[in-house]
Amino acid sequence: MTNLQMSLLENAFDFLEEGADRLLQQEQTPRSLKYAVLHLSSGVELLLKQRLYNEHWSLIFSDINKADLKLLKSGDFTSINFNDARIRLEKISEIRLDERHKKTLDALKRERNKIEHYQVSLNRTTVISIVIQGWSFVTDFVFDHLQLDAEQQNRFTQIRRKIIPLRDFVSHRIQEISADLDKLGKNDTAVVRCPECLQDALPITGEDTECLFCRQPFNGRVLEKTWLDMFAWWHESWVRGKDIVHETLLQECPNCGLESFYQMGEDSADPIEHTGLQWICFNCGHHIDYSVFMDTCMVCGRSYPDESDEPIGICESCVRAQMDD
Ligand SMILES: [Zn+2]
Ligand SMILES: [Zn+2]
Ligand SMILES: [Zn+2]
Repeated sequence: MTNLQMSLLENAFDFLEEGADRLLQQEQTPRSLKYAVLHLSSGVELLLKQRLYNEHWSLIFSDINKADLKLLKSGDFTSINFNDARIRLEKISEIRLDERHKKTLDALKRERNKIEHYQVSLNRTTVISIVIQGWSFVTDFVFDHLQLDAEQQNRFTQIRRKIIPLRDFVSHRIQEISADLDKLGKNDTAVVRCPECLQDALPITGEDTECLFCRQPFNGRVLEKTWLDMFAWWHESWVRGKDIVHETLLQECPNCGLESFYQMGEDSADPIEHTGLQWICFNCGHHIDYSVFMDTCMVCGRSYPDESDEPIGICESCVRAQMDD
């Protein structure tokens, strides 16, 4: 059994290294970007499996009822997929991943699906951004949840050194766009996390927009759905699959009146540290930042900004409606 344990982790390291090498190659081709994503994704999947294996070997079988030592030794079995591995880690090993890491895994899975299921043209900036965040997950996961012996530790350090130039690329790019981000801030334009590259660099204007970091364009009309699909699916009122329910997540915007007003998560799912967003309207870009005290209206149940000394707990429009009666 020790053999298999070795091969899972070492296999993971191999994929991680291979993926990093592709991005560091002198000549960047669509093919190298593609394999950078695929290899990183395989490496991550193997790390998850290794942790499950450490819990109990049967957990790496897709169907635990079919777990069989003979099959395990022969390697002739269907092993657990990425999603189910994440679920088992959470439910059985009680490993709760950081929200930020969860988003990274989602993005990684999404990029991999794109590559596997249809023709894609990958953007190098996006790939590097996702790879760097993927590595941030890998690093935490390995140190927090896997015990490496000295030799494995060395090997891991060696591979990690390879991604330093990529990390520098990301910081350089962030540096490059920082003046533009500041300008947006001064203009009172809200900036949210980009569903494509996962950097906090997507201005929400109510119109067609473009991520400053990866330059991915977004159609203003579908941005709300794209964004919520990526960042809000965890929400309780969110039904995954065909019938996605947006309504319960969204309130009427006090500015444009459409139901596109979204409250940023209180956990780290939507941390927009540098803009400090509390509420954002995907339709018009109206936003309320964290410094504003938001109260819940006793009459209509909506959140509204309340800056009076003695809050009455009723929003302006409900007060007006009552006066009209
Ligand atoms: Zn982007
Ligand atoms: Zn609005
Ligand atoms: Zn009200």
